[in-house]
Amino acid sequence: MEWKLLNEAKYRCPCGKGKIIASVYINDCMEIAEKKIIDCPECSLKYNVESFKVEQEENSQKSEKLFCVKKNYPEFKYIPIANDFDEILIRLYPLKQLEEFLTESERYKNSEDIPKSRISYVELVNRFKNEKNMVELLELNRYLKLAVRKYSISKINYEFMLNEPNRYEEYLLNKMKNSVEIHL
Ligand SMILES: [Zn+2]
Repeated sequence: MEWKLLNEAKYRCPCGKGKIIASVYINDCMEIAEKKIIDCPECSLKYNVESFKVEQEENSQKSEKLFCVKKNYPEFKYIPIANDFDEILIRLYPLKQLEEFLTESERYKNSEDIPKSRISYVELVNRFKNEKNMVELLELNRYLKLAVRKYSISKINYEFMLNEPNRYEEYLLNKMKNSVEIHL
């Protein structure tokens, strides 16, 4: 399959000593391929080239613009939607509260005889029964252990997910702000 150069544009690299070359190729089947290279020894070590859709001021339509993104820029992390009870616990309670629940569930894991004074724990047990359609307190104990263990790695992400419905858009916008737009 032969690829022919269809279009080529050259931009200044961020340091100004080299170029960024964006080429578009086409093959016999009319398939299009794009290639962007940084032709600068300095900038090619520091950046990757990416395009972002940027809203134009004049007509609020979006057009693609090229940016140099730092090579160590963090990847977007997809957060799994909370779908099991340990994840629900992480979303609902602070760690300290979960640890207290865990202590109580160790004490009452084999009995439904929970003193009425343990109001918040009784509420948790009821929530568990509703969510999981389950009454085994041993199971609740297992979920609490899991939640406490997972907590430190998940909590920040879960909070972020709940507060940011358009997390990916937000991520792209930040990435763009932290990158260098390149010009012809
Ligand atoms: Zn450069």
